[in-house]
Amino acid sequence: MTFTCEWCGSLNVKNVPGSVFWELPDGTRAIEITETPTFNCSDCSMIYQSEEVVKEIENQLFLVDCKQIGKVISFKELMQLPRLLKRNYFDFDS
Ligand SMILES: [Zn+2]
Repeated sequence: MTFTCEWCGSLNVKNVPGSVFWELPDGTRAIEITETPTFNCSDCSMIYQSEEVVKEIENQLFLVDCKQIGKVISFKELMQLPRLLKRNYFDFDS
């Protein structure tokens, strides 16, 4: 599977697991999410997450009990946390 860099259009972009630091929706603290699907472009040196991944993380943090998240959590663990609400009432796009 090939990807195109969102920034420079290069095909030399790899989808690799990476760590991101994320502020919780209530703004009390930031957590580290490891093994997050991350694009790494060797041409323009941009390291970024796709919009879908960003949205997934944001939605999930709204829907789960953030108190049970430690300082570090893997992307997979985060996505597996039970959701408190059936849908994200703050997401007016859907
Ligand atoms: Zn690029």
